[in-house]
Amino acid sequence: MSTIVQKFGGTSVGSTERMKLIANRIVEEKKKGHDIVVVVSAMGKTTDTLVQLAREISSNPSKREMDMLLSTGEQVSISLLTMALQEQGVEAISFTGRQAGIQTDSILGNAQIQSVDTSRIRNELDKGRIVVVAGFQGETSDGDISTLGRGGSDTTATVLAAKLKADRCDIYTDVNGVYTSDPRFVHKASKIASLSYEDMLSLATMGAGVLHPRAIKYAKEHQIKLFIKSSFEKGMGTLVSVEKQSHSEIYVIGVAFKENIARISISEFEDGDSLQAKLMLELASRHIQADIYKQYFNNVLTVLIKEKDLQDVLSILHKEKNNLTYRNLEYENGLAKVSVVGRNITSHPGIKEKVCKVLLKNKVKVKLVGESSISVTAVVEKSEVYIAAERLHAGFGLDFIVTEQVHV
Ligand code: ADP
Ligand code: ASP
Ligand code: MG
Repeated sequence: MSTIVQKFGGTSVGSTERMKLIANRIVEEKKKGHDIVVVVSAMGKTTDTLVQLAREISSNPSKREMDMLLSTGEQVSISLLTMALQEQGVEAISFTGRQAGIQTDSILGNAQIQSVDTSRIRNELDKGRIVVVAGFQGETSDGDISTLGRGGSDTTATVLAAKLKADRCDIYTDVNGVYTSDPRFVHKASKIASLSYEDMLSLATMGAGVLHPRAIKYAKEHQIKLFIKSSFEKGMGTLVSVEKQSHSEIYVIGVAFKENIARISISEFEDGDSLQAKLMLELASRHIQADIYKQYFNNVLTVLIKEKDLQDVLSILHKEKNNLTYRNLEYENGLAKVSVVGRNITSHPGIKEKVCKVLLKNKVKVKLVGESSISVTAVVEKSEVYIAAERLHAGFGLDFIVTEQVHV
């Protein structure tokens, strides 16, 4: 019998009405004869509300208690959804991350899954039950509850799909597929029928929040087919899978952006390369994602991070000031990154130039421009990010495409 993992995000389980609706979908799939494992997120904006509650009590809550708190959101969803399934006359059982056998490392708040003991899930599937698992959480080797970082339910779903050797992993969300840019803000974005793990990973890494980058890496490693579909309407959605043909040419896939970015600029250091390497290691060991640019003309190291990581990174920098050998730093938040995402981008110098031209023409203030093989990224004020994304989408000819990628 084939196994299918279905993941439903926050909006999809945002109310009891919606839970009843998706219960129909799950039962429909079960009736086709598959074993079904369902992974769910917390209802609607529950996780944001829980974060806010913690902030009302402490500006720097302990990571252990934060994870204890945040994991409760998913627990509400699994029990309610399981009740909705039982109401439909099917057998179903809910599991927390720990009950599902998910073990993580001990980086609380941003933990990575280390192993999954699927025996309990398998047991229940063998009894003909639908298993509903809380996304975004696991247990450390000390027995504490850990969470996987925001958007982490996608990772729970793909990891379970791999461990259970599932035929596919269906990601149900509030859009009907992956688009050339975020369709909520870039109105001329168009749906991509299928794309490779690599291209999906590039889009997600640069900010396309429809899938968590870690989930895509995992799916790629284990060749799990991902279907991104709407929870509310029927249709094909987007397939993310292995590349059908290898592409060596340059092309632009889409425009992605990240909001709530902070910048730290470090100056007056002795050895910039060693500072950059040490800092990268420090941040990586805490799973903090950062872009670090060295500006040679003024000898400044610029670090771009999520605003939520600012306090952590500042305290690392202060604590390690002597080891990192720098004298000055300054920072600001309220920024955003907007990226033109594609392949072999650096081998086409015209792309960076065009990004600058388009933004300049539209009077968007550009604070910094960086490039990598998958993107040209401009740092802008948060208030200008949507207009920047729309203009770049148009500027790179993405407004009217029907094909999967734009060749430049
Ligand atoms: P879920 O709660 O289901 O995990 P998310 O909010 O994490 O949903 O992801 C879905 C959202 O991703 C969409 O509402 C959309 O605004 C956003 N998004 C960003 N970039 C893209 C893109 N390129 N294609 C589709 N959706 C995108
Ligand atoms: N509930 C968590 C979040 O809001 C995890 C998830 O939805 O994937 O980030
Ligand atoms: Mg998500």
